[in-house]
Amino acid sequence: MRLAPEALEARLAELVGREIGPPERGPDPVNAPMIRHFCEAVGDESPAYLDASWAARSRHRGLVAPPAMLQAWVLRGLRPAPKDRLGELLALLREAGYPDVVATDCEQTYDRLLRPGDHLTLRTVIGSVSPEKATGLGPGRFVELRLAFHTEDGDRVGAQRFRLLLFRGAGAGAALLERPRRPHAPASPDTAFFAEGLAAGEIRIERCGACGRLRHPPRPMCPACQSLERGFVVASGRGTLHSFTVLHHPAFPPFHYPLAVALVDLEEGTRLVAGLVEVEPDAVTIGMAVEGEVREVEEGLPLPVFVPAGGRAARPTAAAAPTAPRIPPRRTATRRVGDVVAGDALPPLDVPLTVTGIVAGAIASRDYQDVHHDADAARRQGLPNVFMNILTTNGYVGRYATDWAGPEAVLRAVAIRLGAPNLPGDTMTLTGRVASREGDEVTLAVEGRNALGPHVTGTVRVALPPEGAR
Ligand code: ZN
Repeated sequence: MRLAPEALEARLAELVGREIGPPERGPDPVNAPMIRHFCEAVGDESPAYLDASWAARSRHRGLVAPPAMLQAWVLRGLRPAPKDRLGELLALLREAGYPDVVATDCEQTYDRLLRPGDHLTLRTVIGSVSPEKATGLGPGRFVELRLAFHTEDGDRVGAQRFRLLLFRGAGAGAALLERPRRPHAPASPDTAFFAEGLAAGEIRIERCGACGRLRHPPRPMCPACQSLERGFVVASGRGTLHSFTVLHHPAFPPFHYPLAVALVDLEEGTRLVAGLVEVEPDAVTIGMAVEGEVREVEEGLPLPVFVPAGGRAARPTAAAAPTAPRIPPRRTATRRVGDVVAGDALPPLDVPLTVTGIVAGAIASRDYQDVHHDADAARRQGLPNVFMNILTTNGYVGRYATDWAGPEAVLRAVAIRLGAPNLPGDTMTLTGRVASREGDEVTLAVEGRNALGPHVTGTVRVALPPEGAR
């Protein structure tokens, strides 16, 4: 039954802050077969989860479960949802005109590692319901749930903040498929020769038709002789770096960060602002020799870019780019906290996305939402195929951190936010860096991108053994 707006808001206000119902006991205790299924689904080969004899000799003193499985131990799977306050809340919002639902954020903290035999009970509190917001999917309201996980002896072992977006927009999923585009320079008759040059693969410099003076950016009149006559010359591309900046934040989806932007003194005498690529920002120095060329940075957008001069042979070219997925070697030894420095980069991990992998991840995390295994259901939301569920993404982020840290590292928290969907046929590339180090704990900033843009951004806190530990 649809409530009048005031009655709806009053009922929502009553629900906020309350438990959704009695504590829910997981159907099974933590167990090795479910751990193995989950590890297979996210490609996690850590012996801490899979090799009982290794685990018994390790700092863990026995098998442990991937921390990112936390919620999987209490999900109901195919059993029908109970009639509880969450069901009422979702029904109220559905009736109020927000029929679609998507998970947007998941923050898990782990008080300790879980072991086979631990039997979890979940208590869920409705944390908040936002007013209507304009979102990329359409108007919607965010619902925050706060989950607490306890073992039978009453110890809290983990907590989770989970944010859902209930929104209105049949087929709005299509909005997620629009690739973010770079802003395009405004076109005018004064700049047309420059754009035509880029289309022809040339960096052109405006030249006065009367006195021959070069000028950039283009403008109608020569500042030296006030002539309106003009032509152009084609730049050689050679130049030196006059200045530069490296952008980190805020990140706009079509660009890759850190983003180095150069102000280049061209050898012809004019200056040009353009991207600086194929060089680590730390290696950029003012005065360095650079070479410019025109590249199609996205479909239909040729732009000048600069690379360090001379090193061209040593740099990978597009043709030599790896086609096989990049999978960093799994560490068998665990990093010591003293070996880690803020700013350290994690090696990239390519995750090829397939229907099988997406379905395996959904089922291994006990998420039977139809859009993760039924392509027709996904199409009704405007997406071309099934897409990865948030708990599988969470598992990949956790795996990425422990692959880097080593099997005796202990995950303390994983906090992720989802963006573009992970769809079959695409590849998600996980990258990360050490954001900070405090005591035995390292915070990693992790991003997973696919062809549509950022799929996941997040942070992971991981505890490393101290120096000399074994
Ligand atoms: Zn002139």
